[in-house]
Amino acid sequence: MMSIDKIKNETTPMIQDDILDYAISHGFGDLHFKVDNETGMKAIVAIHSTKLGPALGGCRFIEYPNTTSAIYDAMRLAKGMSYKAASVNLPLGGGKAVIIKPNQPFNREAYLHAFGRFVNDLGGRYVTALDSGTQLNDMDIIAQHTPYVASLSSHNGDPSPSTAKGVLRGIQAAVEFKLGKDKLEGLHIAIQGLGNVGYQLAGHLHELGARLTVADVNPTSVERAIKNFGATAVPTESIHKVPCDVFAPCALGAIINDFSIGQLQTTIVAGAANNQLAHSYHGQLLHDKGILYAADYVINAGGLIFAASKYLHTPENLVLQQIDGIHTSLMAIFARSQRENRPASEIADILAQEKLGLAPTR
Ligand code: NAD
Repeated sequence: MMSIDKIKNETTPMIQDDILDYAISHGFGDLHFKVDNETGMKAIVAIHSTKLGPALGGCRFIEYPNTTSAIYDAMRLAKGMSYKAASVNLPLGGGKAVIIKPNQPFNREAYLHAFGRFVNDLGGRYVTALDSGTQLNDMDIIAQHTPYVASLSSHNGDPSPSTAKGVLRGIQAAVEFKLGKDKLEGLHIAIQGLGNVGYQLAGHLHELGARLTVADVNPTSVERAIKNFGATAVPTESIHKVPCDVFAPCALGAIINDFSIGQLQTTIVAGAANNQLAHSYHGQLLHDKGILYAADYVINAGGLIFAASKYLHTPENLVLQQIDGIHTSLMAIFARSQRENRPASEIADILAQEKLGLAPTR
């Protein structure tokens, strides 16, 4: 077992002040910048990898303190998309776009038209989709200029049912691997967050006979889960401390952190939330504590599978197979993690890097 300080020293990244050095060290394909003189729109498209297919990833339209932080945000998220798509064997690369939202009045529609032309100029290497600050009708405007758009109002779909099904398959894989059980009946699962994904996940788990403890800041969601699924409620600040078989974070990022990690009383962490580990060394700490962690970007890939299916016109039966494949992907990660006595979070990254043809960057 390693000490926390040693782990922190080994995994805390150096502060990178050269963007291109960061790009090289993280295996980036290309970075594109657009300043549209007519409208004043400033946008960045970061393409991490197109090795497995076009780089699909959402477009953020939010304020940033400066351009550098917008570029790093696009790069960090693009890399995450490559890993997510690779981990579940989708024929897609990873990219992300950022339109920098001005902190003064601007013509939103004109920005979106300019962004659509920018995406089209990239010739299909990048495919855009929804993200923070964009909505389906924004995508419809962008699509007036380019076919490289994955979420349209005509797609008529919410990814969260697919995400919830994928998380369920991930929980089943973790339970099979860690507890040697092929049924969830009688297991105790603590769910943090009963939003679009968490509530549907609770429904699936209830149907399969699991006992649920839940928490949400929204009392209406909690009451619904008590009424419909016989769940027990606890305060939001206690949910991660509940003694249980599976802790399923479905609300916030960075829930596994220096403070919470010592309070966990579970054998498995498996949920939908993005960026569950506050830092990569928390993956090592979970491993040292004997807690099996289902890497967030693998277990929550059902939403990406859904979005990709709309763009790639994937038949329904194949979509279901791909969601089911989350179970297989996680089993492979858990088995190698056990074989090599290394954290599952680290193995998830290594497997994705191998598929992407990248050198390990940890
Ligand atoms: P959501 O906004 O619908 O639900 C989040 C829920 O968490 C809400 O009910 C909210 O009230 C609750 N919440 C907020 N703070 C809380 C706290 N401190 N304690 C307990 N509950 C709290 O979001 P969602 O679509 O259900 O997504 C959940 C997580 O899964 C997010 O991290 C999201 O990024 C990730 N994710 C979602 C999808 C998807 O398809 N929706 C796909 C991949 C990843």
